[in-house]
Amino acid sequence: MRLPYFELFEPATVPELLTILKREQVRPLAGGTDILPLMRFGLLQAAKLVSLRNLPELKGIERRGETFSIGAMTTLSEIAGSPIIEKDAPLLHEAALAVAAPPIRNVATIGGNVFQNSRCLFYNQSAAWRRERQPCLKAGGEVCLAVPGSRKCFSVYQGDIAPALIAAGAKVQIESKKKGGSREVPVEDLFTGRGAQPLSLRSWEMATHFVVPVLQNTGSGYAKFRLRSAIDYPLAGAAAFVVARKGTIASARLVLSAAGPGPVIVPLDGVAAGKRPGEIDLDAIGRAIPKNLPLVNNHILPASYRREMLSVFAKRAMKTALDRV
Ligand SMILES: Cc1cc2nc3c(=O)[nH]c(=O)nc-3n(C[C@H](O)[C@H](O)[C@H](O)COP(=O)(O)OP(=O)(O)OC[C@H]3O[C@@H](n4cnc5c(N)ncnc54)[C@H](O)[C@@H]3O)c2cc1C
Ligand code: SF4
Repeated sequence: MRLPYFELFEPATVPELLTILKREQVRPLAGGTDILPLMRFGLLQAAKLVSLRNLPELKGIERRGETFSIGAMTTLSEIAGSPIIEKDAPLLHEAALAVAAPPIRNVATIGGNVFQNSRCLFYNQSAAWRRERQPCLKAGGEVCLAVPGSRKCFSVYQGDIAPALIAAGAKVQIESKKKGGSREVPVEDLFTGRGAQPLSLRSWEMATHFVVPVLQNTGSGYAKFRLRSAIDYPLAGAAAFVVARKGTIASARLVLSAAGPGPVIVPLDGVAAGKRPGEIDLDAIGRAIPKNLPLVNNHILPASYRREMLSVFAKRAMKTALDRV
């Protein structure tokens, strides 16, 4: 599988990047661990890529008062190896350490991880495999190969970082070539809820930084189920985050990975807030996970088993968060 021809732009400053965004139909290239395999497989056609690697403004971790500003091009190894992130944003630290394996984390960036495509066993296949079958909805066809007769795509978002960012209340800064389009939005707003097109960012927009709150009196935990523990996407992932005041839980958040076309925020009304950590019923955390998650048999393990594992790993993540608060 050869990488198709593409034109590469390599701006050295953000104004130069914005000029390219205004002028060209380009796609961002960060570490390349997601986009280049998709291009090799013929699943993504991009005639022009813009590399972000020569832009120092998009790299690094900076503490600004009660937040961290993390450049979109900061690698997951830098995040996993940062003592200040480990101390004051431990959920992000734990999630970064759970991604793939060190060789991938050394090049994969936080921006690229959040903006990675959703996955399906009937879609993430070689061109030779797909040539023998009809193109599915996500590939521009009329059918879903996983659920024959369905007009909906059930591709699954398997990023580890976005659930952790959402649980911690992080935001993302977006640059746009359109006047007035630059903005800061909660990370959850990046997801459309549609499997075929899981991300809401437009082709003329790009993330520059993630703004992650530094919070006192919090506890957090990230729990991940994967087949190969040394390197694998989550088949179920859970990020739990709790804030305590005077020994009582003031607020709690639970966000799942591999539970649908984007990270799933579990409603925890009446389950955690107002209780002491020891009073929280972990089975109620599992029961709070929506029953109608759009999981089908399009991954290596059956949907029913993955659904069960989401509950198990959600409880583990929440228990860790409560133990740490
Ligand atoms: C073997 C293997 C195992 C993996 N295991 C895991 C895992 O366990 N957990 C997990 O979460 N992921 C996993 N991944 C996915 C991997 O972590 C992501 O591919 C990686 O983080 C993507 O980062 P990147 O910098 O390489 O992004 P790229 O491949 O460069 O980009 C990915 C996408 O993001 C877009 N993009 C990049 N930067 C920006 C930006 N600043 N603004 C807007 N769009 C942007 C690109 O255009 C592209 O569409 C695995 C990948 C492989 C190959
Ligand atoms: S769920 Fe169906 S439409 Fe979506 S990628 Fe898989 S086979 Fe294609």
